[in-house]
Amino acid sequence: MKRSLIVLTLIAGGLLLSACQKKICDMTQEEAKEWTKNATVAEMNKKVKALTPEEKEKLVRNWLTLNIPDEDKETVIKGCAAIIEHPKLGFYVELFAHTPINVHEADGGAWAAGDHISMSSGLLAAKDPESIRDTLTHELFHIFNDREHGAGGISALNEGTAIWIFNMTFYENDPKKMELGLAEPAIGTKLYYRDIGIPGYPTDIEFGVPTDLTPKGKEVYDMLMAADRSKLPVYDESKIKEYFDFFKDINRNQEFSTYLGLFEERLQLWLQAH
Ligand SMILES: [Zn+2]
Repeated sequence: MKRSLIVLTLIAGGLLLSACQKKICDMTQEEAKEWTKNATVAEMNKKVKALTPEEKEKLVRNWLTLNIPDEDKETVIKGCAAIIEHPKLGFYVELFAHTPINVHEADGGAWAAGDHISMSSGLLAAKDPESIRDTLTHELFHIFNDREHGAGGISALNEGTAIWIFNMTFYENDPKKMELGLAEPAIGTKLYYRDIGIPGYPTDIEFGVPTDLTPKGKEVYDMLMAADRSKLPVYDESKIKEYFDFFKDINRNQEFSTYLGLFEERLQLWLQAH
């Protein structure tokens, strides 16, 4: 009895050891789902950062389901590996494991649809890993918002956070984008729906203030806010409304650079007064 218990303990210990030693890039999609479920964002970022660029590509190959033509797969794999090259975006690996990528016929663009991403044939045909990187960083963040109870639905913050996350990482050396922070992507989205509009969508969209973020959601939102020089009060409905009201007479339906100039000016005034 005692001996079999010892043997069992040894086997269990051995299994545990081999599970610990297995590099995350060698995990199957099922193992990946299991590991990421209990890992924090900081832990995922750390493990991914330790991988070589080749291992990052291998991870994407093992974890991601690609329902797209074979000839387009390499571009998407390279685009995804480029996402997790950024030390702040290692946590996207969990989204890779859970989000199949499909394709539809269209000239450009992509969308996040509940549990999967659909990419246009035109975007794939361009075979440009950098535009795949930016597009998927954005679309997968909508999936993140959904999974981790972040800003939801058609809202200023759902769109704003999904834009801000790739601005604050891949364009962190662009002073203009950094200066406009999260405010322009979020407030600008609300102005866009009001002044330009999208057929079939409301003109007065919600802010989308998250009220029951998961721990992973909180880790990532805190990161988004720490880099945000515009100091948008993401967690407070009444403060974000007050913030928006300061910008609400700006017309979004004019030449984009003119609009941006007005926004920037107003932002400086807001920051001087707060
Ligand atoms: Zn979007």
